[in-house]
Amino acid sequence: MRIGILGDIHANAEALRAVVDALQRERVDTWVQVGDIVGYGPEPSVCIDIVRELGCIVCLGNHDQAVIGELDTAYFNNFARAAIHWTAPRLRPQDLEFLRSLKHVVRQPPFTVVHGTLHLPEQFGYVISAVEALDSLDHQDTRLCFVGHSHVPAIYLRRDAAPNEIHMVTHSEAEISYRGFDRVLINVGSVGQPRDEDPRAAYGLVDTDLEIACVKRVHYDIAGVQRKIRAAGLPEVLADRLALGV
Ligand code: ZN
Repeated sequence: MRIGILGDIHANAEALRAVVDALQRERVDTWVQVGDIVGYGPEPSVCIDIVRELGCIVCLGNHDQAVIGELDTAYFNNFARAAIHWTAPRLRPQDLEFLRSLKHVVRQPPFTVVHGTLHLPEQFGYVISAVEALDSLDHQDTRLCFVGHSHVPAIYLRRDAAPNEIHMVTHSEAEISYRGFDRVLINVGSVGQPRDEDPRAAYGLVDTDLEIACVKRVHYDIAGVQRKIRAAGLPEVLADRLALGV
């Protein structure tokens, strides 16, 4: 099985189309989306339609939960909150119905999908170091787990015989063999708003037969989505940050 993994799309349809094109050339047969289809960007409904057309296995992100009114926006910074309030009234009834149908954790062996961490999925903690990876891995009962939320790609590997020994790969692009590892936790980075100082859209690709996990990057039309963000009246910073990957 070849799994294409989309993380944190954040209503950036330009980036999403570039990633889907790249993954379609990779002969993907299973599509996964790790949450936050909406928020920050100017085309939430377009992105929801693409995710649904691909037949993605999807979990609920914190921005998705906020736009359906089920997560307090006091939890968000000012720009994120402004984008939630911009997005919510623009969603179509079918978008709201779809987002309401999503769960925090989707377990589908050989993988599990969660936006933040498996130990506290409803609190949206971040996996940003081996410390949080260890806690999440302790709750991972499938060989693979795909997460997002931090917008920074990383791969964590562990053997059951050495549960406190975590191998970490934190490059902005990586292709690794996970042969011999019993638990693999992959933060696939962000399609629509990367924050690892690499502005290219990030995505994940896993081949379960070859036991290879990749984080890949693709260029997309950043200026195009910046124009749409400004035309939409969303906060200027949400356009500016895309060129920097922060
Ligand atoms: Zn996000």
